[in-house]
Amino acid sequence: MKLRKVTAASAAVLALSLAATACGSDKKDDDASSSSSGGSGKVKIGIKFDQPGAGLKKPDGSFAGFDVDVARYVAKELGYQPNQIDFVETKSADRESALARGDVKFIVATYSITDARKAKVDFAGPYLLAHQDLLVKADSDISKGTDLNGKKLCSVTGSTSAQNVQKSIAPKANLREYSSYSECLSGLQSGAVDALTTDDDILAGYAAQDQYKGKFKLAGLKLSNENYGIGVKKGDTATVDKINKALEKMVSDGSWQKAVTANFGPANYKNEPAPKIGAIVK
Ligand code: GLU
Repeated sequence: MKLRKVTAASAAVLALSLAATACGSDKKDDDASSSSSGGSGKVKIGIKFDQPGAGLKKPDGSFAGFDVDVARYVAKELGYQPNQIDFVETKSADRESALARGDVKFIVATYSITDARKAKVDFAGPYLLAHQDLLVKADSDISKGTDLNGKKLCSVTGSTSAQNVQKSIAPKANLREYSSYSECLSGLQSGAVDALTTDDDILAGYAAQDQYKGKFKLAGLKLSNENYGIGVKKGDTATVDKINKALEKMVSDGSWQKAVTANFGPANYKNEPAPKIGAIVK
């Protein structure tokens, strides 16, 4: 009985996936059998789930943010319609391994291009230039010139933000590392930490949330240059080339600016102009 049920369920799944393949775009990418595309005309894309403005899974299960719009645009250029995309959460510390394992075809997740990461993955882009900053309570006296050594800072494991604190920004800070920025946000709210530090676009997205309005402010420090790239499995240069073409088109047809305005506008985030492909700001 149990076996029959499983068989019926598998048949249903097979029928569904066949239907999905049949309905799929005829311009589909050439590797529908790889694990990151699920073998059913689907493509798995890594994003963040808890960064409003950049990458967010909403309570109704839908996805929104600048990275989500970039991911959808690129996927379309690769031959995938929105209903063929499976968004997968890729936290900061998990991105290189998710690509190496083939869990996702590419990652659009506030993912800075660095030399250390380039040893493990390939990058298309950059498609956005952000800067590391601090989010503090509205009444905090932390500002430009404040010595952050000795302060309680919160950031995320595996991020450039945490590394920059340890290497250069404030090596003697009391750095707390969590697995996501939203966990740091709770610490900031409760007073357990003095500041949350990461890229300014992410921080602006948090500060603009209804429940935090008027509670936090960005220090406006531009502590680093974060060149966002789209991560791809090491050696998959064909996909990198296709993604770069898609990104160029996204800028030239106005879709990039539209996505910036729609996603960062509500947070009043002053973004840098669209970067040129391959042009890294050190
Ligand atoms: N852009 C930085 C990084 O890739 C910080 C944001 C993040 O953790 O995603 O590490």
